[in-house]
Amino acid sequence: MPVQRLDAVSGDITTQTLDAIVNAANSSLLGGGGVDGAIHRAAGPELLAACRLLGGCDTGDAKTTPGFALPASWVIHTVGPVWRGGDHGEPELLASCYVRSLEEADRVGARSVAFPAISTGVYGYPIEAAAEIAVVTVRGASTDVEHVRFVCFNEPTTAVYARLLA
Ligand code: ADP
Repeated sequence: MPVQRLDAVSGDITTQTLDAIVNAANSSLLGGGGVDGAIHRAAGPELLAACRLLGGCDTGDAKTTPGFALPASWVIHTVGPVWRGGDHGEPELLASCYVRSLEEADRVGARSVAFPAISTGVYGYPIEAAAEIAVVTVRGASTDVEHVRFVCFNEPTTAVYARLLA
């Protein structure tokens, strides 16, 4: 089925009370800055211990852990591409992050999923292009996930998603 409800909000993804939140991780899965650091701080040290058992994650792939101290039951860790001008497979890899994250959500039975704007922080992906891939890919997915929320860390980013969703 297609996702029935898509919305965009401004806020901190760690406070979202959805079944799963997606982490824009790095390939080691051993923690980093940005949204990754915030998720690890809010989930507590058990999250890092669980991530150590996963053996890293390829760019475009996703792996799941419990949410530990987070309101969300699950954290889906995905690794976005580093922006290198756009002709190094970045669009396909970014789309794959959304596809694989929804597959992981289906695998664990999560029906509501919050995504950050993957790759648009230190990985440098231009926000307009990244948000368009996020919205088009989630809209085109066949999944049991019923609600996808894009959680943006600033108002301009939320406005980009809101326009794409309108
Ligand atoms: P990447 O390495 O994939 O670029 P970043 O964490 O640097 O990951 O940034 C991804 C996006 O997440 C950016 O748009 C950044 O503003 C946003 N972000 C950072 N912290 C949070 C948070 N606590 N909740 C939601 N989004 C966040």
